[in-house]
Amino acid sequence: MKIHEYQAKELFQKYGVPIPRGKVALTVEEAKAAAEELGTLPVVIKAQIHAGGRGKGGGVKLAQTADEVTSVADSILGMTLVTHQTGPEGRLVRKVLVEEGLEIEKELYLSLLPDRATATIVLMASEAGGMDIEEVAAATPEKIVKVHVNPLLGLQPFMTRKLAYGLRLEADLVKQFIPMVNALYRLCMDYDASLVEINPLVITKDRRILALDAKINFDDNALFRHKDILGYRDLDEEDPLEVEASKYNLNYIKMDGNIGNMVNGAGLAMATMDIIKLAGAEPANFLDVGGGASAEMVENGFRIILSDPNVKGVLINIFGGILRCDVLAQGVVEATKKVNVKVPVVIRMEGTNVEQGREILYKSGLNLIVAKDLSDAAEKVAAIAKA
Ligand code: GDP
Ligand code: MN
Repeated sequence: MKIHEYQAKELFQKYGVPIPRGKVALTVEEAKAAAEELGTLPVVIKAQIHAGGRGKGGGVKLAQTADEVTSVADSILGMTLVTHQTGPEGRLVRKVLVEEGLEIEKELYLSLLPDRATATIVLMASEAGGMDIEEVAAATPEKIVKVHVNPLLGLQPFMTRKLAYGLRLEADLVKQFIPMVNALYRLCMDYDASLVEINPLVITKDRRILALDAKINFDDNALFRHKDILGYRDLDEEDPLEVEASKYNLNYIKMDGNIGNMVNGAGLAMATMDIIKLAGAEPANFLDVGGGASAEMVENGFRIILSDPNVKGVLINIFGGILRCDVLAQGVVEATKKVNVKVPVVIRMEGTNVEQGREILYKSGLNLIVAKDLSDAAEKVAAIAKA
């Protein structure tokens, strides 16, 4: 799960990580009131969307006067912000964060995330802050300092010192930096974060060190034990079909292609997407209905795939284990009757009760294309893609 910058900063504040003073606003009026409450100029007005690169896209602007607060807030609220992370369609800005403008001496980078390869939490810091960290990593990897933390042993003092020295911080800043890193590590562990990133972490002219930006992603599989952050979820920032799918516990991810597919098991789903590509088409989604899917889940999955206007054909590929082929067939038939299916549907299934399943499909009288096996399914899907 992703959250907004202003929400991440709320958590930072709770953990004692210094942030600029600021307030979120949903309207120009609220932005004006927030700036007055801050009682300082300039203020920075920042678009709140679940994507980075807002600065370059025109979603982060300084306002030097009260009139500028109004005009800048008015231009950002309601804009469709396009950044390298939003895709060309961009995102509608519904909220802004109004913050005190700071005088910045230097921009740094700091992040924490689980490193799967070493099963540790890796902390990364760099003097090259405010830039795209992927570019820094590619062009000048020596500018990134890393420490790996064994989660059983925890973050050790020598590690935070290594980061501080790597950033070439002077003594007065080291004193502020170390408790901050410890707090961020606690936050990351307490909330099962999959990413905590501050870019930039700034040193101000009056020698304070603060999180100017804040990004936190959470591991969805651990959300059940963090009920307090569920309220941070912003459905406006998620794909509507993915939101719908999450209601039924379906692992659905929307993609750009035109062949919808419904599969049981993540591995088989990946293989099916490969087959679709091999056949010269592009998958419209990833959908794993799970090993023990019910007819109802199949029906909902099918309905969600078909409500994507890009979908020109569907491949259903099921290995009947716990989910029996007859249950699947029943779900598909029910769904086909309810939903107005205008595109060809190819079904390949194998496994438990496959004969009964095929029987149900044939007898339904519906226009379902039954494939003999996987390669037959691939050929049939290729034909749809070419048509
Ligand atoms: P992002 O582009 O989505 O990563 O948004 P950021 O929060 O990182 O803001 C982009 C840039 O705006 C930062 O790198 C800063 O250079 C600039 N910026 C943000 N807040 C301030 C501020 O208070 N004062 C100054 N001078 N610049 C700021
Ligand atoms: Mn940033």
